[in-house]
Amino acid sequence: MTNFEPKKLNKNWTIKDSISSYNIDQWGDKYFSINAKGNISVTKNIQSGKKIDLFKVVKELKSREINTPLIIRFNDILKDRINSLHDAFLKAIKTYKYKNIYQGVFPIKCNQQKNLLEKIIEFGSPWNLGLEVGSKSELLIGLALLENQNSLLICNGYKDKKYIEIATLARKLGKKPIIVIEQRDEVKRIIQVVQNLNATPLLGIRAKLSSKSSGRWSKSVGDNSKFGLSIPEIVSTIKELKEANLINEMKLLHFHIGSQISDIAVIKDALQEASQIYVELSKLGAPMEYIDVGGGLGIDYDGTKTSSSTSTNYSLQNYANDVIATIKDSCELNDIDHPTIISESGRAIISHCSVLIFNVLGTSRVSSKLQIYDEKNQSLIISNLLETYYELKKLNNKKINLSQIIELWNDTKKFKEDCLVSFRLGFLSLEERAYAEELTWACAKEIAKKLNNDEINHPDLYEITETLGSTYYANLSIFKSIPDSWAINQIFPTVPIHRHLEEPFCKGNFADLTCDSDGKLNSFIDNGKIKSLLNLHKPEQNKDYLIGIFMTGAYQETLGNFHNLFGNTNVVHIDITENNSYKVKNIIKEDTKSEILQLLDYSSDSLVESIRINTESAIEQKKLSIEEARKLIDQIEMSLRKSSYLSE
Ligand SMILES: *Cc1c(COP(=O)(O)O)cnc(C)c1O
Repeated sequence: MTNFEPKKLNKNWTIKDSISSYNIDQWGDKYFSINAKGNISVTKNIQSGKKIDLFKVVKELKSREINTPLIIRFNDILKDRINSLHDAFLKAIKTYKYKNIYQGVFPIKCNQQKNLLEKIIEFGSPWNLGLEVGSKSELLIGLALLENQNSLLICNGYKDKKYIEIATLARKLGKKPIIVIEQRDEVKRIIQVVQNLNATPLLGIRAKLSSKSSGRWSKSVGDNSKFGLSIPEIVSTIKELKEANLINEMKLLHFHIGSQISDIAVIKDALQEASQIYVELSKLGAPMEYIDVGGGLGIDYDGTKTSSSTSTNYSLQNYANDVIATIKDSCELNDIDHPTIISESGRAIISHCSVLIFNVLGTSRVSSKLQIYDEKNQSLIISNLLETYYELKKLNNKKINLSQIIELWNDTKKFKEDCLVSFRLGFLSLEERAYAEELTWACAKEIAKKLNNDEINHPDLYEITETLGSTYYANLSIFKSIPDSWAINQIFPTVPIHRHLEEPFCKGNFADLTCDSDGKLNSFIDNGKIKSLLNLHKPEQNKDYLIGIFMTGAYQETLGNFHNLFGNTNVVHIDITENNSYKVKNIIKEDTKSEILQLLDYSSDSLVESIRINTESAIEQKKLSIEEARKLIDQIEMSLRKSSYLSE
C-alpha cells in the first residue's frame, strides 16, 4: 500500500531512511547532510569536516527577529566552489602539460547582489578571478568592485557608444576590460570611439558556433542564434580591424553555448569548433592570447549524474580536462601557443551557497472519512460515481487486475468531469459538487490501497497520486524567490530542514501566498524521477515546519518579480567557524510593504491619508467610532513598516 494516508509511523525510521528518501547524498556535492538530531547540517568544506545545524541557525535568527522566508548564504560554500573550480583546472593543466593558465571570470548576471560579488572577488583574488558584464549597469559595478589589476573584465552584451567609451577609458585606469564584439555593427562604433578618444580598447570576438547544443538554451548557438558573429562576419571584422589599425588589440575568442549544458558531448563539439576558429584567427594575423569558453558548466540538481536537464553527465574535473585537452590538441596541431583559458562559469560557482527557507502555514486535505448520503434521491451522475466507488471497494485485494482498475479510474474521472459540467450548468448544488469531489478522492484512495508503488506509477493512473496529495501552504512567493521553478520548470532539491528522525506522514506539494494558480511548487526529484509530490511531515501545532530549497543561488534572486507585491526576503550571510559554530556576517533586511509600494510609485503617506479621509466620513455617518478609526490607522501604519510575508 502506498503512503498517502495518515498511518502508523514506522518507529524504526532512521536518518539513513531520510537521506535516501530525499536523495541528500546524491545532490549538493556533500555540502549538506543530516545530523544526529535529525536536522540538516551544512558543511564548511569537505576537507575541514566542520558542520553546523541549519535548523538551529534558523531558530536563532528568529530570536534576532529575522524571520522566514529567508535566504541563507554560506560564504564558506561559495569559497569552496571557487577553489574547486580552480583546483580542477590546475589539475587538468598539470595532467595535460598545458603551457598556460586558467583565469576565470564570474558572470555578474548570475547574481548581482553587492555582498555576494564582494565575496566572490575576495575569494577569487588568489586566482585573479575577474568579472563578466553584459550591460552598462553591470559594467559600472564591475569597474567599481574589481580592483585587482590582473583580473579580467569581459564586456559582453549589446554595446552602444557609451558602453564602448567607458570600457575603453577604463583601460587607462589600469584595469583589463576586453570588449567582445558580438554584433557586426559594433565594429564601426568601436572604430569611432577609438578615433574620438585617442585610446584603444582590448578586443575580443564572439563566435556563433554551428555545433548543436542541447537542452533549454540550445537556441543560443547555431546559425540563427541571437549572439555572436558567423564565420563570414568574423572574416570581414578582422579585415576591418586591420584597416583601422586595431588588429593588434584583437586577443580573445569567446563563445557561449547556453547554461546548464547537461551533456559533455555537446561541450566537446563546441570546444573543437571554437579551437579551430581560434587557430584560424591567429593565422589571419590577430595576436590571439585568450580563449573564453563561456558559461554552461552545469550542476547536478537531481543527483542522477545523467544528461537529464536538471543534471550533468560529467564532473567538474571532466569539464576542466575536456577544455584543456581539446584546446591543447588544436593548438599543437597548428603550432600555435597555448592561450590563457577563461570560463564564465556562473551557475557552477554561485548555486550551492544559497538556501531558501520557508515555513508552512497549514495544510489542506480532503476529509478522510467518506459520508454516504441518501442514495435514492441522488442525481444520476452522483450515483454513477458512488457505484464506481462500491465496485472498487468490492475488488479482491489479492487478485488485482490492473486493467480493470484503470477502467474504473477512467470512469471515475469521467463522472467527476460530468459533475463539474452539471455544476456549471446549474444542475448540481454546491453540496453535491463537494460530494462528487469527496467520492473521487475516496475512489483514488481505494485504488492506492490496492496497488503497490510500481503499479500506481502506471501512466494511466498518474492523477491518483495528485488527487491524494495534501497541499501545504508555504509562506513564500514562488514568483519572488524561485521564479525559475515557475517560468522554466527548474527543479531544486526541496527538503524539510528538521524532523528527519521521524518518518514523513504523507505526500504533498506546496501552494504559495500569491493568488495565482501558477504559484505552486509541485516538481520534486524522487530517486531520479520527477514527481509531483514530496514526502512531508505533519505540521505540529504552534511549531514551525521549515522547508529548505537548496542550490538556489544562481539567477533566482534578481529574476524574481513582485507578483502580488511580495518583496525581497531577509538574506543572511553566515561564516562557519572552527568549533562547529557560526557567525552571522551580513544581514540584508527584507522589504517592508511600504518599500514595495514605493517601487510602484505609491506613497505610504498618501495611501494612509486617503484611508484616513474614508474613516472621517464613516465617523461622521456614525459607522465607525473615533477609537476604531484610530486603531485601524495605527494598524495600517505599523503594517506598512513590516514584512510583506505572513508573520505569527
Ligand atoms: C549567462 C551567461 C553566462 C553564465 O552561464 P552559466 O551557465 O550560468 O555559467 C556566461 N556567459 C554569458 C555570455 C552568458 O550570457
